Amino acid sequence: MSAEKLRGLGVSSGIVTGQVVVLQSANLPVVPVPVPPERIEDEIGRLEAARSVARTELQDLRNRTFEVLGETYAGIIDAQLLILEDPGLLRKTAHRIQVGRIAAAWALKEEVGDYLRKFETIADGAFRERGGDLQDVHLRLQRILRGDVRGGEELPDDRPLLVVAHSLGPSDTVMLTRKNLAGFATDVGGKTSHTAILAQALSVPAVVGLKDITQRVRTGEEIILDGESGTVTIRPGANDLLEAERGRLTLEERESSWVEVESAPARTEDGTAVSVQANIEFPQEVEKAKAYGAEGIGLYRSEFLFLSRSPELPSEEDHYRTYVEMAARMAPAQVTIRTLDLGGEKYFHDVLDAQETNPVLGLRAVRFCLQRQDIFRPQIRGLLRAAAEADIRIMIPLVTTADEIRQVKALIFEEAGSLRAAGIPCREDVPVGIMVEVPAAAWSADILALESDFFSIGTNDLIQYALAVDRSNEAVDYLYQPLHPAVLRMIKFIIESADRAGIPVSLCGEMAGDEEMTPLLVGLGLRELSVQPRAIQPVRRAIAGMNTREAKARAMKALDLPTALEIEEFLLAT
Ligand code: PEP
Ligand code: MG
Repeated sequence: MSAEKLRGLGVSSGIVTGQVVVLQSANLPVVPVPVPPERIEDEIGRLEAARSVARTELQDLRNRTFEVLGETYAGIIDAQLLILEDPGLLRKTAHRIQVGRIAAAWALKEEVGDYLRKFETIADGAFRERGGDLQDVHLRLQRILRGDVRGGEELPDDRPLLVVAHSLGPSDTVMLTRKNLAGFATDVGGKTSHTAILAQALSVPAVVGLKDITQRVRTGEEIILDGESGTVTIRPGANDLLEAERGRLTLEERESSWVEVESAPARTEDGTAVSVQANIEFPQEVEKAKAYGAEGIGLYRSEFLFLSRSPELPSEEDHYRTYVEMAARMAPAQVTIRTLDLGGEKYFHDVLDAQETNPVLGLRAVRFCLQRQDIFRPQIRGLLRAAAEADIRIMIPLVTTADEIRQVKALIFEEAGSLRAAGIPCREDVPVGIMVEVPAAAWSADILALESDFFSIGTNDLIQYALAVDRSNEAVDYLYQPLHPAVLRMIKFIIESADRAGIPVSLCGEMAGDEEMTPLLVGLGLRELSVQPRAIQPVRRAIAGMNTREAKARAMKALDLPTALEIEEFLLAT
């Protein structure tokens, strides 16, 4: 078969060639196949055999997970092993085969469907959310029943492995345990989707929005995944491979020239200092951030701490230790830790309500934290204790009203009092800032600035909410316009409000990492940007190559143009 090239959105740079693992789709085409009476026992035998294969697979996966990521991730697999061993599941499925004279796959699908419906009616959220693990076990058993015995898990560990999936959810995080994981390609997803952010954090190339790649490629086939051009070449020929290798070497050269660089502030031609900091998702990324010259951590997404321990919740001690260690590695530079931002289209966690009809507008981020103080307070205590020893700032995501800031501050006040009473060192005047990423917050930035120690503009969400465009949906990607006049006007107003109140303002959305945007952002008045580590050097170079006065004049002109396209053309001209 000849090579086939698919186009999507390149969301994490790099070019890699490797074998594909196609993750199972949640919608398996299982149909009710009748079984003659004399084959009923065989069919039940097949079900038992499938369970035994699944057990071996999960135990292997558990061992590998433990080796690579430690006990907390391995716990994800334990939950699935427990479900697999549930005697009721097998007994009831066997009963369905007998009574209905149907094949094991259909009987299992029906039985699991019943379980899931029961889970949904149980009020205890944690129990109900066990449904996700049950689904994973179900998919594994269905695959084995179809005769696809190892579903790609037997692929060798010595070659780069590329994960192809419809989308990547939390139950797929086990794939990240593979030492040779080298990239992602998904049917859906937008530029600032969390798959994209995760791929960048893991420093692997990713292409999203490929529409039907899961239908076009099979586990074990070779592809070239090019995060630069946003393409995937299936069954590449010799010339494709050669070209990919050339591209890879060029990128490697470019990147090696960035590593181990100074982290002094970048300066424009006319001497304006602009601080370029790093966005990270895993504490270990601090080393990468430093190597690329980060002047600090402008955004640590603490939801990853929750996800890595899921279904357990991190304890106060986990929070404290994680933050103190991360800040110590980054010292003397500052670390900004964002409090839990789960919900919306973000990674799923057991503690969330899977039934929200519109989660992007739902109980997400600070809204969730203020309702689930049992989860939020340990994080606050860990942060206050860490702040006593390290230069950290607390950042609240998705703030919509001043009242939310006040409520968080009241919790900080209470927890600081309780720590002090217990003789535990803490810093209660730790700087507390907010993400400005909801249009309501943007347009009341002058008010919110009076209650905040700093701002960070979250354009990933600000664009989503301002333009009513799902940031993870490639179908409306054309409308996801960072240069839309409404977005630029909001950014300008936020910066002016921060300046008037005398508080620092940064921008930490993906837009900050696009070096073509740098003159515009500096021209609008930003002096701090926080970007994925690999974008630090290109952004620093863009700063060094620009003139602040000129950039300001151009930014002001851009604000008067009617469309994103005209603004882009104007900025690119000259
Ligand atoms: C943002 O919304 O711009 C942001 C940086 O946060 P996240 O991408 O984690 O929502
Ligand atoms: Mg956000």
